[in-house]
Amino acid sequence: MSQAQVDVSEVHWLMDMFQTVDVGLVVLNCDYRIQVWNGFMENHSGLTPRQVRDRYLFDLFSEIDEDWLRRKCDPVILLKNRAFTIWEQRPYIFKFRNYRPITSTAEYMYQNSTIFPLSDTRGKVTHLCFIIYDVTDVAVSRIELESMNGRLSQLTKIDFLTQLYNRGYWEESLIQEFNRLQRYKHRSTLLMCDIDHFKRVNDTYGHAAGDVVIQAIADAVRKTLRSTDIAGRYGGEEYAILLVDTTLEQAAVLAERLRLLVESLPINYQEHKINVSLSIGLAEYTPDMTEHRQWIEASDKALYQSKAGGRNQVTNYR
Ligand code: GH3
Ligand code: MG
Ligand code: MG
Repeated sequence: MSQAQVDVSEVHWLMDMFQTVDVGLVVLNCDYRIQVWNGFMENHSGLTPRQVRDRYLFDLFSEIDEDWLRRKCDPVILLKNRAFTIWEQRPYIFKFRNYRPITSTAEYMYQNSTIFPLSDTRGKVTHLCFIIYDVTDVAVSRIELESMNGRLSQLTKIDFLTQLYNRGYWEESLIQEFNRLQRYKHRSTLLMCDIDHFKRVNDTYGHAAGDVVIQAIADAVRKTLRSTDIAGRYGGEEYAILLVDTTLEQAAVLAERLRLLVESLPINYQEHKINVSLSIGLAEYTPDMTEHRQWIEASDKALYQSKAGGRNQVTNYR
């Protein structure tokens, strides 16, 4: 083969590779008019190199945020830097349909890209080259993993029966609030409640009925709360509610409302109507408390007084 034949076949191979490589290659001039468009871009856009040749990029792809992309490209032209875009910032530059809808839930192709300068023989930047990478698989698995983690961490916080916070998570929240109160002068109150004579419910109607009652009281708790209150299932039929930025007197109003609601609640189980009541104890945080357990003990004592005083009542710890 002569040297000329070798050169021609090398160019031919290069063109083949350029057409078939599994990344998008786009060359723009400095006026953002398309000069080069490889097979990947043609396949995903449905536009041939002839159709896009010399077209202004932002006319042809109106979904591209022109200000954003120009800000990325300016330093490439002026300083000969490389620039990168990643899907976490913007899911894509070119809005291409995801062509693997069966194996992937994404509607559009997620893309990373590299943008680099192309210079003439005197070193002046005359063109921009874009390499577009399809990162849909990576993006989708990352997104799915994150949503799975979100659901998992939710599961470890929530009590299955009542959908209130479980004891562990609730107590962690209490400790956080306790630490905050030690640093700043705020007033918060702890509310503990326990269903009265609950064993009778289980004994009379069965354990499944008891579960329904526990759920119904959790609903009543939710109805009574404000968005800042933090309610948890503290034990079997015990609930603990942290009333943030709430004085004892304010909390007592809320507690009384909850007590009345529960007392008047008809809880339906099969053909039965089950009536229960709540005993409630309240304790406000005081600066002499050195650890959160003392706060729980104080509200527990108040709860015990409500029980001893005949149940179905609210007692404030003083
Ligand atoms: P008191 O008025 O003094 O509170 O009387 P009580 O009968 O409610 O006594 P206590 O609070 O000690 O009773 C708790 C009972 O709750 C004992 C246990 O069998 C029952 N229990 C605990 N967890 C569950 C649960 O998840 N489901 C059901 N059905 N029962 C539970
Ligand atoms: Mg109990
Ligand atoms: Mg009880």
